[in-house]
Parts: sequence; C-alpha cells; structure tokens
Amino acid sequence: MPDAAPDSEQFASDNYSGICPQAWQAMERANRMDEPAYGEDAWTARAADQLRALFDTDCDVYFVFNGTAANSLALASIGQSFHSVICHELAHIETDECGGPEYASNGAKLLLGTGDNGKLTPDSVEHLVTKRSDIHYPKPKALSLTQATEVGTVYSPDELRALREVATRHRLNIHMDGARFANAVAALDVHPAEITWKAGVDVLCFSGTKNGLALGEAVIFFNRALAEDFEWRCKQAGQLASKMRYISAPWCGLLDNDTWLANARHANACAERLERGLAGIPGVSLRYPRQVNGVFVDLPEPMQAALRAKGWRFYNFIGGCSRLMCSWSTTEAQVDRFLGDVRGLVAQRQ
Ligand SMILES: *Cc1c(COP(=O)(O)O)cnc(C)c1O
Repeated sequence: MPDAAPDSEQFASDNYSGICPQAWQAMERANRMDEPAYGEDAWTARAADQLRALFDTDCDVYFVFNGTAANSLALASIGQSFHSVICHELAHIETDECGGPEYASNGAKLLLGTGDNGKLTPDSVEHLVTKRSDIHYPKPKALSLTQATEVGTVYSPDELRALREVATRHRLNIHMDGARFANAVAALDVHPAEITWKAGVDVLCFSGTKNGLALGEAVIFFNRALAEDFEWRCKQAGQLASKMRYISAPWCGLLDNDTWLANARHANACAERLERGLAGIPGVSLRYPRQVNGVFVDLPEPMQAALRAKGWRFYNFIGGCSRLMCSWSTTEAQVDRFLGDVRGLVAQRQ
C-alpha cells in the first residue's frame, strides 16, 4: 500500500484532504445495519430535513457524487438545449467541467461574462443578455454564480441582490455553484438563507466533498418547480447512488452541531494566517483579495521550485499565480512550517 511521502505537505486543494472525524463516525453508524437503497433510507431523509432546517425553507434536496454532476444536472434542469447560461469567464463550469453542463443540457451554451476578482457584474450580465435577442442566438435563461468564487472571493448579499435585479428583469434563473459555499457563509458571517433563496438563488449545489466528506454534493432546489423529474435526470446520468446512505449519513455528520461551519471557519482562518504571514515578504504579492480558504499569490519562480523541492505541493493556475488552499485538515503548524520555509528562502537569497 502506498504511503504518502512523509516529507510531502500540501496546499494543493481542499479535496486533497481526508474525511473529517464527524463524517467518518456518521458513516460508521450508517454501516451498522442494512437500509433501503436508492435514497429510501432514514439517513437520506434526515440529511434532507437537516438541510431544510439549515436553510429555513421547504426546499427539494438531492445528493449526487460530485460537483461537476451537481452543476451540470442543475443547469440542465433550468433550461432547454436552445438556452444559454451566463457565467464568469473563470467559472468552474466553463474552465473545469469538460463541457459537462453543455452535455447534460444537450447543448445549452455558456455565455462568458466578466468582472474583477472572479465576480460577475450586473453590467456584464446586462450586456450579455441584451447584445442579441434574435432567433439565431441561444436565449439566456440562467445566471450561474460561484460562491465563494474560483479565486477565493465572495459575493456580498448586496452584490447578490444587484445581480438578482438584472436576473429578474431578464427572467433568468439563478444557479449557485457552492463548491465552497460553507467557506462563503463563514466569511460573510450570514445565515445561509441570506445568500441563497432570500437573494433569489433558485438552485444551489452545496459541496460536502471540499468541506470534509469523501464525496457527495447536495443539489438544493429553492425553486421547487425546477426540480420536477430531477431524480430521473440523476438516474439517467449515473448519479443515483444505490447505497445513498453512505453519502447522506456523512452529510448528517457535517450538519450536526454545525460541523460544516466549523470546518469552513477553520480552513478560512488557516488561509488568513497564511496571508498574514506572506504579507510584506519581498517578492511575494497577493493576486486576489483573500476572503475564504485560498490564498492566490505570485511567488518568484525560483522560490516556487525550492518550495516544491522541499515537498510542498500547490497548484499554479489562473494567470500563473500559485494557489495555496486550506481545508478542515490544515493545521496552524503546517501554515507556520510553510511560512518558515518561505522566509528561509528569502533570507538565503539575501
Ligand atoms: C471543486 C469544484 C467543483 C466540483 O468539482 P468536482 O471535481 O466535479 O467535484 C465545482 N465548482 C468549483 C468552483 C470547484 O472548485
């Protein structure tokens, strides 16, 4: 059995992290007896009820294996093949899902908008909707927002309301990619309802994976009319887990005692510590304001290479900057070791 190299540590991704203890224990409890299949079990009912309680509304809840499927199937349920979905040019649905949303919707087109710090602006949405209205162009039907964004920023409740205003004017439904929704709630310190259905979000893909599960995303329809026949869509797409309790029980583990929020707060706090430690180090600069659990930073090439040689793993992307991502399992000591290595490298060069 391969062991991780003992001298390798990572800020590569929050999905490099393992399963948090609370989710693991819930999985163990779910394994004590047989239960009905295909989501007819008590765990799945309980997890869905807990999500309804968390959002304080009567929403429809489904569980799928991963984020690409959650986004693709949710977007497919919003429109027809001749529709289009407006998203930011850096959106995961555009850059990292291999055309999944287009495939699931049989061809709905993504229209790419812009805005600083990974956030769509109302003007950009307005422009995309109004630049064409003829029969030859796919009709805009949905607005997809990533909360928190791909570059570690968040939409404030006011920003969401402004986007909702444009969306309502143009009859766009709002999809939210919540791969790091928990981190956004923690950062904004708001009730989850404030940045979802109260801000006009129709469907949310709420990630458990990046928050501390092995796998499993909740697709939450606040606009329940859009959920019509969604379970058939999931089944056809190979996203209906027969032993669904092994997705939903760990979700209960996350939701009990607000573990999801504690995990997100911890990840955000680690990133904040990293950000503070990196501030003021010569040659190191932040690319985006850090608001959640990722620090996007420009590091000199030789420093990147030296850090990697010391065993640190992290990705470079989005314009070539380094992304340092924290999770529930990141420790302060690990952050401090990384900062120590960075400072050591700077000192050596002087
Ligand atoms: C990780 C991530 C997803 C989901 O990715 P999967 O690998 O399909 O689970 C979706 N959106 C964003 C912004 C992500 O970072």
